[in-house]
Amino acid sequence: MTLAFDATARKVDDARMFIDGGWTAAGAGARFPTVDPNTGTTIAEVPRGDSADVDRAVAAAKRVAVEWQFTDAIARAGLLRALAAKVTEHADELARLEALDSGHYLAKAQELVGAIPLWLDYWASAADKVGGRTIEVPGNKLSFTILEPLGVTAHIVPWNYPLLILVRSCAPALALGNTCVVKPAEDTSLSALKFAELVKEAGFPDGVFNVVTGYGGEAGAALAAHPDVAGITFTGSTETGKQVAKLGADHIAQVNLELGGKSPTIVFPDADLDEAVEAAVQGFCSHTGQVCVAGTRLFVHADVEKDFLAKLSARLEQTQVGDGFAEGTQMGPLVSQKQFDRVNSYIEIGKSEATLFYGGGRPEGTPEGGYFVQPTVFTGVDNSSRIAQEEIFGPVASVLSWSTEDELVEKVNDSIYGLFAVLLGKDVTRLLSTARRLQVGGVMINDWFGELPMTPHGGHKQSGTGREEGLEAIHGYTQVKHVAINLDPLRAATDWAGAPL
Ligand code: NAD
Repeated sequence: MTLAFDATARKVDDARMFIDGGWTAAGAGARFPTVDPNTGTTIAEVPRGDSADVDRAVAAAKRVAVEWQFTDAIARAGLLRALAAKVTEHADELARLEALDSGHYLAKAQELVGAIPLWLDYWASAADKVGGRTIEVPGNKLSFTILEPLGVTAHIVPWNYPLLILVRSCAPALALGNTCVVKPAEDTSLSALKFAELVKEAGFPDGVFNVVTGYGGEAGAALAAHPDVAGITFTGSTETGKQVAKLGADHIAQVNLELGGKSPTIVFPDADLDEAVEAAVQGFCSHTGQVCVAGTRLFVHADVEKDFLAKLSARLEQTQVGDGFAEGTQMGPLVSQKQFDRVNSYIEIGKSEATLFYGGGRPEGTPEGGYFVQPTVFTGVDNSSRIAQEEIFGPVASVLSWSTEDELVEKVNDSIYGLFAVLLGKDVTRLLSTARRLQVGGVMINDWFGELPMTPHGGHKQSGTGREEGLEAIHGYTQVKHVAINLDPLRAATDWAGAPL
């Protein structure tokens, strides 16, 4: 079966879930709509999976888990490479689906999908290189560890980068011998279903990769709570992450949490202001601010604040907001009516807490029914205000002025989040000294965030636990087995030398 996608009509017919290598409706027959955020019109009806559907998917993934674990790593790698080739072959369709469902403008969706094979190749290459270690122990013994897969892994995915986030956790999981059950976000299920089609075409055995669509509180919660799920990778809001961690704790699943953020973009007084403005705009407007690492707190040194703000408003004037499929669009809509209402409510909160410096309304000429907002900037923001502390997940930035590094570090670290920071300036000693003091999982100096398969990504504090990407991600998808072999005659029961227990 192939997903019936008419790119011109912006419609998908007959979307089904992918369980045990087959296409299926929800057992209860229920469906829910998914909309084009550019227009607010329905593009597809998606199966509304529930706990019975999750049971089917987990049972399939469990049935093949041991066989997949003991499939040669080189064979697993070969399948991942075949999948990478399939993604490249179908890149245009995947990108159009992603743009239609999530609101990424088309050129950006094409860039994102074009990069997906990098993740598949990276983990295909790692599959036969990951191993344990030998350990020096007293006596004539050989002692070593084996890294083993967890078994069935759950992947609960948000709507902001639906395919990239699915692949960044499923690629290492599969490469290292785990089976997968994916629960895409309810707003953006379509690229996961197309991807499942390519998994089948690439030749993965039935049951190794499954997709259950549905609502978070139904299919998502049932998946996290399933006793046969040994590992959970959850990417989403901190609030939901706490619920998922509790559900996983009930059956002692290993839980990786990639959660929210309220990241700083820090402008030092010696920064090139044109570059700083570019990094700042990328930071809070990229994907209409719906990025976990979005730089929504702009810490600008008091000496350059006036010049920075003048350049910032001039740059924002040039940002083309509109339908993601229109030529030249640089910022598309928010993903849903719910997100549109949320962002607008924070803009109202901002007006009562600070000074509206730029934006705050609906961009002129954007399509009726679409979820468009202007890039919005507040000045005179107090660090304790809601717009400076809470994750808005829209293109809304708060400008906070600073004068000394001690004051800066204290304000930046005064947050429940600790995901990421961007630093802009020329004095390397000053930049690196500050970077060391920030309570965040990642720092980018003189650049905007760039996600790569080989560099670890994750958060401190309530931004998460564990790491995706880079070799650090191995720990999220494996468990350690220690093996020892005694090469001498077995010691007498009373001979405790070198063996205190
Ligand atoms: P969300 O928490 O609302 O949903 C994420 C996923 O969880 C969805 O698939 C949803 O259906 C599911 N879900 C919802 N309730 C559930 C429950 N009770 N049990 C199990 N699953 C449930 O997040 P969102 O709004 O889709 O995504 C935006 C959030 O994701 C932001 O906070 C953003 O910062 C975060 N995010 C983090 C990273 C990262 O790498 N740290 C990356 C992308 C997004």
